[in-house]
Amino acid sequence: MIDLHIHTHFSIDSKERVARICKALRKRHINIAAFTDHLEFFPLDGAYGLYNYKEIFEEYSEYRYCTDKLLLGVETSYVEDYKHQFEEFLLANYFDFSIASIHHVGEKMISEWSINYFKKQGIEPYVNELYITIESGFFNVLGHIDYFKKYLYSIEDYPESFYDFLPDIFNKMIEKDMVLEINTSGARHFHREFYPNREILKIYRDNGGKYVTIGSDAHKFYEVGFMIKEAFELAGELGLVPVYFKDKKLNKEVV
Ligand SMILES: [Zn+2]
Ligand SMILES: [Zn+2]
Repeated sequence: MIDLHIHTHFSIDSKERVARICKALRKRHINIAAFTDHLEFFPLDGAYGLYNYKEIFEEYSEYRYCTDKLLLGVETSYVEDYKHQFEEFLLANYFDFSIASIHHVGEKMISEWSINYFKKQGIEPYVNELYITIESGFFNVLGHIDYFKKYLYSIEDYPESFYDFLPDIFNKMIEKDMVLEINTSGARHFHREFYPNREILKIYRDNGGKYVTIGSDAHKFYEVGFMIKEAFELAGELGLVPVYFKDKKLNKEVV
């Protein structure tokens, strides 16, 4: 079993100790796992300037044999203005893979934008962030593609027009060798379905998407492995292959 999206106390929104995460991994028989703490270069983000690679790497190294394959990943939201910082940081430091997630739209955090601006602006500014992120070519995985949904507390608010952009977004992702994530945290939130749901995963597959990574986005030890089995089954039903990245190389030996 696999869980490729786990936050530790190195993320501003988690207090979880690595020892407790490791215990949860063993207990739940998760043999391939990844720490993906937040790295942010956008000054208005709460995580800005907090990523301490040396400390993270030391603690990761200390625990790296707690399961068969413990990988060092990173979750970041790309901002074009800080392109060089991203490039330098990702090249200068060892990571098995990187997840790019949309955490801001323009100058606004995704929570604020979804609640206060989405209705006025429509989904296009969010889609634009996706394009810029994918075009950068820096990242292996696209995290929780429809995360804006977390903050839309009414089913009617869901922008159906988002679907129209997906074939093109997926084509560009595939061009850049990016893999789509199934992030199970959505099933803990208001809409009670993964980011993304089955319908979007089908569009991904029908537009040439072959691979997915699967992650719980755990911020607490008891969220580690959350609905991973169900995500696996969903991928299998749709003919999508769960993969992981080791040293930026795609591996398919996931059971
Ligand atoms: Zn995220
Ligand atoms: Zn996350």
